Formats: sequence, C-alpha cells, structure tokens
Amino acid sequence: MPRPRCLWCTEPPYQEVAVLKWRGEERERLTVQLCRKHLGRLNEAGTKGREIKGWSYKVGWW
Ligand SMILES: [Zn+2]
Repeated sequence: MPRPRCLWCTEPPYQEVAVLKWRGEERERLTVQLCRKHLGRLNEAGTKGREIKGWSYKVGWW
C-alpha cells in the first residue's frame, strides 16, 4: 500500500482538509491530504483560492 502523501508534493500529510476545486462553472468538493507547507499556502490564499495546473482550490466546501 502506498504511503499517504500530500496532494501537491511528496511530503507526508499533516492534515486532511475539505477543499473546493473549481474551474469556470465546474465545482468539485474533495477531501484531500496536505502537508503543513501546502496547507499553510492554501490558508494564506483565503477565499480567492490558489491556482494549480489550471484549477483553483480553497479551504471549505462553499
Ligand atoms: Zn505538500
């Protein structure tokens, strides 16, 4: 079984987080594992979100 890791890097996850992933009208509600660094960056991005590979992400499902 693969070791759990952060969604965006190879670090072990720090926390499981509910995130909203969106692009235009498309919306996905996900629960993802993030490392401390990437959780921090997502929190800093706030409601505006953070764009990665063409998708925007933010903490929370609304
Ligand atoms: Zn990470």
